[in-house]
Amino acid sequence: MKVCKFGGTSVATAEQIKKVVDIVKSDDSRKIIVVSAPGKRFAEDEKVTDLLITLANVALNNKNVEAALENVVTRYRLIGEELGLDSTIAQVIEDDLRNRLATKSNDESLFMDTMKAAGEDNNAKLIAAYFNHVGILAQYACPKKAGLLVNERPERVQALPEGYAQLENLKNAEGIVVFPGFFGYTKSGTLRTFNRGGSDITGSIVAAAVRADLYENFTDVDSVFAANPKVVENPAAIGKMTYREMRELSYAGFSVFHDEALMPAFLRSVPVCIKNTNNPEAPGTMIVSERDYSAQPVIGIATDNGFSTLFVEKYLMNQEIGFGRRLLQILEDEGISFEHTPSGIDNMSVIIRNEYLTEDNRLKIIKRIEEELHADDVHFRETDYSMIVLVGEGMRHATGLTARAATAIARTGSNIEMINQGSSEVSLVFGVDKKDEDKILRELYTEFFQKVKVLA
Ligand code: ASP
Repeated sequence: MKVCKFGGTSVATAEQIKKVVDIVKSDDSRKIIVVSAPGKRFAEDEKVTDLLITLANVALNNKNVEAALENVVTRYRLIGEELGLDSTIAQVIEDDLRNRLATKSNDESLFMDTMKAAGEDNNAKLIAAYFNHVGILAQYACPKKAGLLVNERPERVQALPEGYAQLENLKNAEGIVVFPGFFGYTKSGTLRTFNRGGSDITGSIVAAAVRADLYENFTDVDSVFAANPKVVENPAAIGKMTYREMRELSYAGFSVFHDEALMPAFLRSVPVCIKNTNNPEAPGTMIVSERDYSAQPVIGIATDNGFSTLFVEKYLMNQEIGFGRRLLQILEDEGISFEHTPSGIDNMSVIIRNEYLTEDNRLKIIKRIEEELHADDVHFRETDYSMIVLVGEGMRHATGLTARAATAIARTGSNIEMINQGSSEVSLVFGVDKKDEDKILRELYTEFFQKVKVLA
């Protein structure tokens, strides 16, 4: 049995939803489908989730919501009309949104989650209705009744495997199950959404819970590519990679699959296949436990930017027990998560995503490190830093890879500010100036993939 997740662009229009139905019809084992909210129909379009966030903010600011509400309802109305569904569907969705708006309370984050979840919830109901309309038995699954349980921490919503036993019942449902992505419920019954793009996570949870033979993640590209196609011309398609490789790539900018979505599938060894709704015949990219690393030790190169480096220097730091812990504690107190901590004997750098930093907390951090750790020098060194990440499980067994990569970077005339290779050796990270990012990516791509078309 397969669980299929269809992303925002796959369900953005009536035409796309018809493709979804064809895909499901073409394979009897596609029993459970997880859907996103309607995404962008064209480059400048807005996702329904973004329209819902706007609507929630208008309500929170006590402004008139009618125009923002109409923007959301119109999207569904158009889809419903083009699918030939009963015209009351738009009214049903409007009523649902008004009911959600009426739940506004002092708990803004709960209200925001309730509004955001409307995108997938209504889309799942609409798509289930369309399946039935074309004569295919289907039912909408309510995540609360089905048992998609999440933890009580609104700042980091994660699924609780305790819900799996109940979710497993989905496989006994009659007909096609249409499950809304992106949200679940705490044990006390509170709705919570995952991070943006979180329908991938729902798909993975459901696939793990029912022990699916395959989790198919339908999106709008034929496969995952070895490098960003916006920077590298015609990059090689990845035919097969491991969970750990995908995790590293999606962490560092490969947005095709949410970086939190792998764990549930991985823990129950459910293979994942990334496929294209617009070209379902293409084989896609398989994500599995093991692959043959011999031909291609490096599977992809990711880049991510928007990082700052906090540099701290203190004479004899290496002898001072607890220095690193106290430094990181200061960051923890400010609610900051860090990415890397390359260090020398008397200095330590902490690489932090800029989204965690403000003018105020930067000053506070510097002051605390000076006063509490008596550092000789502390400052934010780079504020527009990029990470270039070479990923591949085969790197563990290959020699000379770092030398090849560093030589390739040297050819571009760029400076390497930081190198980090974790002991797992699945990834090799280079910190560079943002302005050099694209040319380094192209040069590394030429070095490691020049002659490769498909990475099997
Ligand atoms: N609709 C949500 C978002 O835009 C979740 C998703 O599509 O996966 O982030």
